[in-house]
Amino acid sequence: MSTAELAGAAPAVVAAAAERAGRFSARHIGTDAAAQRLMLDALGYDTVDALVGAAVPASIHVQPRATSSIPPAATEAEALAELRVLASQNRTARPMIGLGYYDTFTPSVIARNVLENPSWYTAYTPYQPEISQGRLEALINFQTMVTDLTGLATANASMLDESTAVVEGMLVARRASKSASNVFLVDADALPQTKALLEHRAAALGIEVRYTSFADLSEVAAFGAFLQYPGASGRVWDPTDAIAALHGHGGLAVVAADLLALTLLRSPGALGADVAVGTTQRFGVPLGFGGPHAGYMAVRAGLERQMPGRLVGVSQDAAGHPAYRLALQTREQHIRREKATSNICTAQVLLAVMASMYAVYHGPEGLRSIAGEVAQKAEALAARLREYGLVVRHDAFFDTIRVVTPGPSGRVVERARSKGYQLFWVDDATVGVSVDETTTADDLAVVAWAFGLPEAERDVRDLPFGEAEPLRGVAASLLRQEDFLTHPVFTAHRSETAMMRYLKTLADRDYALDRGMIPLGSCTMKLNAATEMAAVSWPEFSRVHPFAPEADVHGYLAMIEQLETWLAEVTGYDAVSLQPNAGSQGELAGLLAIRGYHRANGDTGRTVCLIPSSAHGTNAASAVLAGMKVVVVACDEAGNVDLGDLRAKIALHAAELAALMITYPSTHGVYEHEVLEITQAVHDAGGQVYVDGANLNALLGFARFGDLGGDVSHLNLHKTFAIPHGGGGPGVGPVAAKAHLAPYLPSHPLSQRADHAGGFVFEGGPVSAAPAGSASILPISWAYVRMMGAEGLKDATAAAVLAANYIAARLEDHYPVLYAGEGGLVAHECILDLRPLKEATGISVDDVAKRLIDYGFHAPTMSFPVAGTLMVEPTESEDLGEIERFIEAMIAIKAEALAVAAGEWPADDNPLVGAPHTAESVVAGEWTHPYSREKAVYPVHALVRTKYWPPVRRIDNAYGDRNLVCACPPIEAFA
Ligand SMILES: *Cc1c(COP(=O)(O)O)cnc(C)c1O
Repeated sequence: MSTAELAGAAPAVVAAAAERAGRFSARHIGTDAAAQRLMLDALGYDTVDALVGAAVPASIHVQPRATSSIPPAATEAEALAELRVLASQNRTARPMIGLGYYDTFTPSVIARNVLENPSWYTAYTPYQPEISQGRLEALINFQTMVTDLTGLATANASMLDESTAVVEGMLVARRASKSASNVFLVDADALPQTKALLEHRAAALGIEVRYTSFADLSEVAAFGAFLQYPGASGRVWDPTDAIAALHGHGGLAVVAADLLALTLLRSPGALGADVAVGTTQRFGVPLGFGGPHAGYMAVRAGLERQMPGRLVGVSQDAAGHPAYRLALQTREQHIRREKATSNICTAQVLLAVMASMYAVYHGPEGLRSIAGEVAQKAEALAARLREYGLVVRHDAFFDTIRVVTPGPSGRVVERARSKGYQLFWVDDATVGVSVDETTTADDLAVVAWAFGLPEAERDVRDLPFGEAEPLRGVAASLLRQEDFLTHPVFTAHRSETAMMRYLKTLADRDYALDRGMIPLGSCTMKLNAATEMAAVSWPEFSRVHPFAPEADVHGYLAMIEQLETWLAEVTGYDAVSLQPNAGSQGELAGLLAIRGYHRANGDTGRTVCLIPSSAHGTNAASAVLAGMKVVVVACDEAGNVDLGDLRAKIALHAAELAALMITYPSTHGVYEHEVLEITQAVHDAGGQVYVDGANLNALLGFARFGDLGGDVSHLNLHKTFAIPHGGGGPGVGPVAAKAHLAPYLPSHPLSQRADHAGGFVFEGGPVSAAPAGSASILPISWAYVRMMGAEGLKDATAAAVLAANYIAARLEDHYPVLYAGEGGLVAHECILDLRPLKEATGISVDDVAKRLIDYGFHAPTMSFPVAGTLMVEPTESEDLGEIERFIEAMIAIKAEALAVAAGEWPADDNPLVGAPHTAESVVAGEWTHPYSREKAVYPVHALVRTKYWPPVRRIDNAYGDRNLVCACPPIEAFA
């Protein structure tokens, strides 16, 4: 019954319905009491609590608290109503602050079919490319868009935001330059948040940041330089000579460029840049109080192997058809660890998809016309202000002007604000104004009035801009000559019908949570509930500038403060920062906090970070970025940290010990019983303990990192707290710490608030471009906690641990479970060892993963943390029916492998090595295989009605890396 119907129903009916609808946790958790009973019987436990109580070591069980900051669970309707109240406390003003963030029209067809469509937002990072061809195509469109507009050879599939992309650009220059200099030159006209990030990150790496206006080119001896194009002030200038001078000294040029401006201006590539970076936010991605948005990076030929982040490339499948997959993965943290090009894991895929589709929908002429209008609006405003005697600082600009105010600049900013417009206060005598595609002639008139133009002006006429000459002051040599977006994909989907169908076609190629379970260990692919997602699209959350005045964002600040308080409570820490926009960035923020703490104590020599061999690749890569030296600690046969080796390494490095990074439960999915001894040993030696909290779904409500001896942790809200993975981002990686580290947590130069929940003032440098990172997706986690309540969160953990143990027990006779803790129990995931199967039958973990596609599944995590294994994490959201379907598929696949071993099918021609099977592969030509077509595609009869058809056969990874192509292939390739 709907809320409206409820209001008119009889009291008894209302009570019963409210009871049913009241428990969101019963919607979130897939197994009901009856299913859990069956599962517990199979495991030999009376209650779920008894099972988890036995699995989690008694020494770390959380003590019951008298009071909790987490209110009792709200219903979905109540949570939405509370979010409405929070939303109403944000003011939907007209932001004209600029600084890398612009209001934009998200085409409705993209909002509805991508942002609000679970086929896109619930997908995982495309590590199984055969079932990810849709999002891989969208990402290769993104890469093509970026390479075209920047005029460089190769672009990656997104960065976390513009400022972090600039830092990564600096690191590309450091790796690629032969210059011995440790100086990195930075444009004095760079964005303020980018300057703050560069300073903070460079300091940890011993890089000297030196500001310059590039006026004196004799001074450019440096390994690299950063240029903002157009500048933060809006100024457009020609950096060709500066870049040439830099090259003369062996330095690399990193240029941050506005993609919309590049439709009219010469590209960074044409100016000589080696690296281009920036944001794609204004390509239809809502402001969202700072994120999430896709940053971008493109590099010139020869630098692709230095690039951070994920890169989509074209390869071919077993039938020789073109197929997409992730390229050059040997650069990445999950393989290269401390030698990786960056620590990026989760990036910004969903937002990159949106930005690419904005380009697909508008096409080159559409983008050029939007940019032309934007430039006209800026010109018209400047002309009107000059007409009235005001001074506009620069003549050459695209969308941003700096205006000298007649009186104190604050008065102009306040006058504008009184009419709902946010301008940028530059200094006492200067105001910045940025226009965008949403700015109207009327908006321009109000802004002109705010600068003191007569009241009558505002009332009698708006400010028509159609006549203005765009880029009037920009030198002809800086106007764009080259074409862009010439690939047919950027012109083929111009009607809404065509666009809707293109998005549907791509979504249909992919396997996301809307089709079935994604049992990826270490990734926690749980439900992303529709109610949790709702507020993300509300304008009070989505159309808010990250540097809006404090008075305009009370709703955001209140929600953030509540979420910080809740997360501190459930983790046992004192302070929480929501700024990091991925787990990797939370790690970095936490390690930088440790660094800051040691330095404040005069311990500048504490630079060694101990990391167990089983750790996630981001750990080692983050430690290096925090200026630390990684020392690997061995694990024993049970998968636990080898205490003997740990003590030996601590003794060896006692004086230089900065930290231990440990994952709990371990990346092997086991609750280590010796965790308290481990953390004590590190503390005794003067080190700090970093607990990687990405596996919190195994602990929430039962134990707390702070109680384990952790000093600092990151959490992944896109794992434990219901934010969807978006096909590889967005994410939120809050960093949580004990009070002594709180002063070193990330601050932000443009933050609206001085202190955080608990009254802590953070003074560490920023790790994200925006003060609250990916703020607009925080309502998802807020709603999750609000609707689950403390009890529901605990029930979810219990259900997740039960499901993992049930799968482990059911599959144990078919695949050995590699690690278990006391009582033979695993945590929230289990590792199935496929190496014995390979030995006995020749069938590899790859074959099993691809065969699972034929059965209608996304494979579990493959060969992490142990090669030749599958790590299964069902989460609490899957019901018993889906869990059984998976178990049966795994058992059936084992039988197929045994049939190969028994000689029933040859080793090189059987349903496993032939997997996955496309429709074409079973209907085209003569069927010559020794197994039937039914066996190939309908190994289980139920699939006849529910079949997911992979669009390609098994993809050849090595071929794609040997023949690197990272832009849209010509359409003839698919003929
Ligand atoms: C997922 C994960 C990370 C990295 O988080 P991202 O958001 O992808 O950067 C780090 N550690 C562990 C154990 C993880 O599972």
